[in-house]
Amino acid sequence: MSNTKHVVILGAAHTGVAGLTTAISILDKANRSPSSAKYSVIVLASQLPTDPKSIGYTSHWAGAHHVSHATGTGNSPIILVSSSIDFWRYWIARTAVDGNSDSNSSEHPEQLAIDQETFNTMWALSEPGNEAEICFLRIEQVEYYQEEIPEGKEHHLRWYPNFRILLPESLTPDLRSQGVRSGVSLSTLTIDTPVYLSYLFERLEKAGGKVIKGHVDHIRDVETQINYLLQAQGTNSIYVDAIINCTGLGARTLGGVEDSNVYALRGQTVVLRAPWIRFGRTISSGDDLWTYIIPRRSGDVVVGGTKVADDYHPSPRPEITLDILTRGLKLCPEFVEVDPPIVTTTNMRFSHDESELDSESITLDDLLEQIKPIMVEEGCGLRPARRGGVRIERGDVEIDSVDGSSGKKVHKKTVPIIHNYGHSGSGYQSSWGSSNRAVRLLEEAIAS
Ligand SMILES: Cc1cc2nc3c(=O)[nH]c(=O)nc-3n(C[C@H](O)[C@H](O)[C@H](O)COP(=O)(O)OP(=O)(O)OC[C@H]3O[C@@H](n4cnc5c(N)ncnc54)[C@H](O)[C@@H]3O)c2cc1C
Repeated sequence: MSNTKHVVILGAAHTGVAGLTTAISILDKANRSPSSAKYSVIVLASQLPTDPKSIGYTSHWAGAHHVSHATGTGNSPIILVSSSIDFWRYWIARTAVDGNSDSNSSEHPEQLAIDQETFNTMWALSEPGNEAEICFLRIEQVEYYQEEIPEGKEHHLRWYPNFRILLPESLTPDLRSQGVRSGVSLSTLTIDTPVYLSYLFERLEKAGGKVIKGHVDHIRDVETQINYLLQAQGTNSIYVDAIINCTGLGARTLGGVEDSNVYALRGQTVVLRAPWIRFGRTISSGDDLWTYIIPRRSGDVVVGGTKVADDYHPSPRPEITLDILTRGLKLCPEFVEVDPPIVTTTNMRFSHDESELDSESITLDDLLEQIKPIMVEEGCGLRPARRGGVRIERGDVEIDSVDGSSGKKVHKKTVPIIHNYGHSGSGYQSSWGSSNRAVRLLEEAIAS
């Protein structure tokens, strides 16, 4: 009998960053260490690279940059014990019981470690000469805040390279008119998400992962469904040893999981073609204002953003696009202030404030009209948010098992299930750290 363990990952293929990264992490670890269990990884995915983008998955719509929300300031008594996986599980259980919001895991020291681990992995991937370099752009990122930075408190982004707090005199009158009171600057990277997802997909296939297009409505059907699809391809059926659940927002409705803590946090963006923008910029405030500029290596720049809970509207709203462009141009006038000019009037001055307009200025409406040639697309995606925070946890699940030769259902069996979903607006920047923890839980489960 083969020692190979068959692991089925729900929710990866071209689309899900969590599933793809977890699949690669399992195979990489098994290939690297001979003492590790042998794994065959099958990814069951509703979408393939050739399928059009859809609102049904999130990863395609992300900006994305690595700017962690983790503060590491949480103070559960358990923190004193260790930072082990049990601690993490405890934290998740506790925050879920407390009914706290999805931002709570950002306070957890383990979330900070997850984000830092992911940053280090991505920074290495973005190294000049690395085959993944084309997926990333290393940038200087400026984060502006509409509040003062509290004195005597360590800033949560201080661990990024070249971190510094901006001097008050560097905040221009224009920034101050946008409510900016303070800011920091740091080095980080952005991820060209369509390119990166293709890279992950190819890396998965090279590492020996198998991808099958399909969907399950209930966890108990994973083995029957996989074998049905394998047989249709003329391939031998398998006995499933473990399931990894990376279904993102799908965890809300997936039978046997039906996690009612999961909800959509809708985000809308505009992509502009502006290869001259090579810096990242964000303005945020405590009361949810949030405007960002994320340049990609390709020359596209993602402008956002919005965060609306429980909004499932599947297509961009025109009034929101206008609002995003208005805020984006204010934060980043460099979009139009170039040579040759984007704006074709004799005077490129524009203003959001009617009283500042003179006969030679153009109105914002004109400006937006003239920016259309560099508009690539409007988009919206549903971040898989979760009350209680991200779920990286092991459980057990009863599934239907089939007789390989006859293909008939013969009995029920219990297999471990590892959940890795609910990453909200941080799915990229926490992906490798989260996957490493999911793999540890898988190894524990297989060994027990
Ligand atoms: C506008 C916007 C900006 C963002 N910016 C950033 C950023 O700057 N940095 C960052 O880190 N993150 C960012 N994010 C968040 C990030 O995109 C998500 O956290 C991440 O994509 C979630 O990935 P996932 O794999 O968990 O989910 P998904 O990408 O949704 O993948 C889930 C997969 O599961 C599949 N699936 C679901 N149910 C089933 C089923 N029953 N059977 C089979 N398959 C199933 C789906 O088809 C899909 O393929 C942003 C998101 C948005 C919308």
